[in-house]
Amino acid sequence: RAKQEGKNDVRTFSAPMAEEASERAELERDLREALGQQAFTLHYQPQVDLDTGTLRGFEALLRWQHPVQGAVPPAKFIPVAEESGLIVPLGTWVLREACRQAAAWQRRQPGVTVSVNVSPVQFNKQHFTATVREALDAAGLPARCLVLELTERTVLQDVAAATRQLERLRALGVRISLDDFGTGQSSLGLLRHIPIDDLKIDRSFLPQPGDTAPAQRKASALIATLITLGQALQLHVVGEGVETGEQRDLLAGLGCPAAQGYHLGRPMPAAQAEALLTPAQAPGDPARAAPAPVP
Ligand code: C2E
Ligand code: MG
Ligand code: MG
Ligand code: MG
Repeated sequence: RAKQEGKNDVRTFSAPMAEEASERAELERDLREALGQQAFTLHYQPQVDLDTGTLRGFEALLRWQHPVQGAVPPAKFIPVAEESGLIVPLGTWVLREACRQAAAWQRRQPGVTVSVNVSPVQFNKQHFTATVREALDAAGLPARCLVLELTERTVLQDVAAATRQLERLRALGVRISLDDFGTGQSSLGLLRHIPIDDLKIDRSFLPQPGDTAPAQRKASALIATLITLGQALQLHVVGEGVETGEQRDLLAGLGCPAAQGYHLGRPMPAAQAEALLTPAQAPGDPARAAPAPVP
């Protein structure tokens, strides 16, 4: 019987597993230290209005410069931060820093938004709405200029509880964006229930330059359907991962209002992002209408 043969069922703590566990423990220790030393920064990636080509706002993306390993990608350290609970203080720092930065940018481009990624661990804390409120107040940022990005994974854990939390957040006046849409499970049913404002279509749906013609046609059909779906639900659709002019033209042609991607702008330090801000046109004030100086 399988049970008696079961040597393979026993999860022996093999050398590679032990190595992985100690690597994780080390990363966790380094994260904890980095949090105390403020070794994190935010980079900002432009989100562009496809109709006008103008800047709407930025997505704040966390960057960690490890003293030995150099830049560690979020895909590597965010899971460790989530498992250890460190994502809560780290996420609070991200919120406060992004709000502070966005508030400073309001003077240059009123209404410019900043989008912040929120982990399920943060989102599920009772205190989360208060944390957001405090970040907005401390920065003096109008709530409508803050966008919170959540994934389907976050909302699906407990749809009823998530809906209540989203309603509390929206009552503050912040926007809610569903990130990486289409990559999770039961995406379509979810849209019936949860109160959101924006829909970010995952980059995996974009036709890629190397794709065969039939694959491109299928991808385009899917993208068109997702944009139509979003608009039918009165959501503001953002196309993610635009790397080529063709992809940009495709989205624009399908009526997708906004997009983000390397072709439109890479994630960049705040000082560089600031140069992209578009001063509001003040009639009869040529000085204020001048383009932003490039540093
Ligand atoms: P995301 O929220 O979906 O962010 C978009 C990711 O795609 C970013 O990766 C961005 O650099 C990358 N990207 C943007 N344009 C393109 C493109 O044209 N092509 C390709 N291939 N990639 C593009 P990044 O910065 O490595 O972040 C990865 C993920 O880590 C994010 O995915 C988000 O889920 C998470 N993350 C980043 N910052 C934070 C944070 O402050 N808090 C939390 N909880 N998660 C974060
Ligand atoms: Mg995001
Ligand atoms: Mg995304
Ligand atoms: Mg993603």
